[in-house]
Amino acid sequence: MIWRGRKRQTTEPESSVEPVNVPGRNEMPVENRAGADTSTGSSEYLSWGARSDVGLVRAHNEDAFLVRSPLFAVCDGMGGHAAGEVASKIAVDTIGANAPDHADDVVLGAAVEAANAAVLEGAAAGQGKPGMGCTATCVLIEKNKMAVAHVGDSRVYLLHDGALVRVTHDHSYVEELVDAGEITADEARIHPSRSIITRALGSDPDMYADHFTLDVSAGDRVVICSDGLSSMVSDKDIEELSVSSATPQAAANNLVSAALTAGGHDNVTVVVVDIVEDGLAEVHRARRRHGIIAFAVAALVALVAVGAGLGAILRSSWYVGNNNGTVGVYRGVNDTLLGFPLYELCDTSSVEVQNLPEAVQHQLDEGIGVPSEEIALNTVEQYRDQITAEQDKAALAATEAQNSADTSQGDQAGSSAPAEAAPAVDAQAAVPQSGQAEQGKQGAGE
Ligand code: MG
Repeated sequence: MIWRGRKRQTTEPESSVEPVNVPGRNEMPVENRAGADTSTGSSEYLSWGARSDVGLVRAHNEDAFLVRSPLFAVCDGMGGHAAGEVASKIAVDTIGANAPDHADDVVLGAAVEAANAAVLEGAAAGQGKPGMGCTATCVLIEKNKMAVAHVGDSRVYLLHDGALVRVTHDHSYVEELVDAGEITADEARIHPSRSIITRALGSDPDMYADHFTLDVSAGDRVVICSDGLSSMVSDKDIEELSVSSATPQAAANNLVSAALTAGGHDNVTVVVVDIVEDGLAEVHRARRRHGIIAFAVAALVALVAVGAGLGAILRSSWYVGNNNGTVGVYRGVNDTLLGFPLYELCDTSSVEVQNLPEAVQHQLDEGIGVPSEEIALNTVEQYRDQITAEQDKAALAATEAQNSADTSQGDQAGSSAPAEAAPAVDAQAAVPQSGQAEQGKQGAGE
């Protein structure tokens, strides 16, 4: 059921001229005003200030507010003849008694609904007047979460990065006209039917509250107010005053002053809460720690992967080299990494390096890479065979020279010096080319 009620009509003029309050004008001072109520304070996470003023037209203040950090509420009473303030007082007390310990908007909404029941029960029990009621708008801020529960046309604004956003939706006739596109928000503030609200506490036992949770962050400013502010001061000026006020209490004072300067047609209540610390710094630090650990793990994994890849390369690489004067077969590469050898000696031989051509000796000192262990072993055997062949050839040449010398002994003795030993193995022939080695391997297999 949609309840429609008109908040208390007063002698206030239904001004056809939009109330104007420009920041910087000579605002009406709020200090030392009779009946005004304030509250200021701070905690580790929040700082707040509040002010409630009867305004310049009403005889008494039917607004009520609750400051019990991290819970903050504003209720705007209606019913006339002081009954509105009874309803709003019952509402803030009930919300305070039923609010959650954490930013749980479902439970906070249930607290508002409990306040609705309490107002109805209070009226039935003779408190206030039958038909009394009120709005209820409350927030509970827990670090970077803000739970909101809301009924009526009191409002919550959020100032973030210098921009003011209204986060609640008025339950009012003029808001419906705005939603339908029939009037603008500024026109709604001066509309003759602006006091008609479509949902409030104290009229319907089945009333339900809007509730939701928003993310907030350090530096944000939350403004909770009755329509005594929002009907007198434009959102643009609320934004400018919220931005320019240094402290939450200064903001509350300046906003109430602006409402009074604009005419103060209604009770005006403003609660301002600054998010000092949103608890995310520790979360960010934890994330950074986790990031560092994750990076270290990733680096270690990468190192292991590189090591594994390097190991695979080394395991599949072969070369023949100088093993302290003889030819050896090595796996890996003839180098070191951080002082650790990147090779291992896999086979030795009796082939002496000094019997190979000098060019080959130098190559062996550097390591002669080959495609496989088999080819490395074949290379060693080729060296052995070539050395043996050269030695046999040299011996044969020496024998032939000796025989020739014996035959021509005598008059040819002076010119028959034995031939010098044949030169060592031809360097080019002794250096196995991989293709040649491969051919040898294939030949061996045939
Ligand atoms: Mg009001």
